[in-house]
Amino acid sequence: MRFVSFKADDVVGLALDLDGAWHGLRDGDAGYPGDLLTLIRAGDAALAVAADVLKRAPVVDLDRVTLLPPISNPEKIVCVGLNYTDHSAESGFQQPDFPTIFGRFNSSLIAHGAPILRPEVSVQLDYEGELVAVIGKAAREVSEANALDYVAGYSIFNDGSIRDYQFKAPQWTPGKNFDDTGAFGPWFVTSDELPPGCAGLRLQTRLNGHVVQDASIDDMVFPVAKLIAILSSFMTLQPGDVIVTGTPSGVGVARKPQLFMKDGDICEVEIEGIGILSNPVKDRSVQRAAA
Ligand code: MG
Repeated sequence: MRFVSFKADDVVGLALDLDGAWHGLRDGDAGYPGDLLTLIRAGDAALAVAADVLKRAPVVDLDRVTLLPPISNPEKIVCVGLNYTDHSAESGFQQPDFPTIFGRFNSSLIAHGAPILRPEVSVQLDYEGELVAVIGKAAREVSEANALDYVAGYSIFNDGSIRDYQFKAPQWTPGKNFDDTGAFGPWFVTSDELPPGCAGLRLQTRLNGHVVQDASIDDMVFPVAKLIAILSSFMTLQPGDVIVTGTPSGVGVARKPQLFMKDGDICEVEIEGIGILSNPVKDRSVQRAAA
């Protein structure tokens, strides 16, 4: 099942992909099943019931609505750094034997199609294409062998990073939390539609059509199951929590010459079997002037 979260006339809605057409309902419509986070929190059966309702709902033209992040208000967005050996090397880090973990806040999230904003204070806006795993049920001290049972589904993230702010101090939080830099979407795909842990799928990031990152999910140092085992060893992962699993090599800051995103660019992150997350890039000053 594939679900997309959207807004039309300022009312949120949820749609299901049925053979390439999106069938959806908005909050207030008869039968509206609730938003994706509510459904994930209610369990697998709730997603199946929602799908059954939505497949009989009217077709929604995604070009005529505003997409939202699949989940806009998770309890946690847990991001993983240095999870691909080539990327650790290009970034000048020794490959750690424990994942580098940092948080993102909901305030940084944007949807597919929304502009990634380059702030006035920096020109070092970089892309990071990543696989997202969404937790489906509370997980605490789960084994790697069982960990994938706790994943409801997958999506795509562009972990837009302000590099100079990321490295002003040892903690990366500021550079990873500028408003309008965390692109998430375009939709959510339940885990039964994808290989376990998305093993073998290809991830590609393109800036203005040029391939800048190209890797296999198999290249992760800490695969999805291992990440969940490690994270759940110290905290309870809750349904709807978003795990952003790290980026492969090819980021702009490590290139010679460096390549940063700027107003007018288009950045796409594609993961085989999931879709393409595409976002234009705008200067925040231009966006503010237009508002
Ligand atoms: Mg990242």
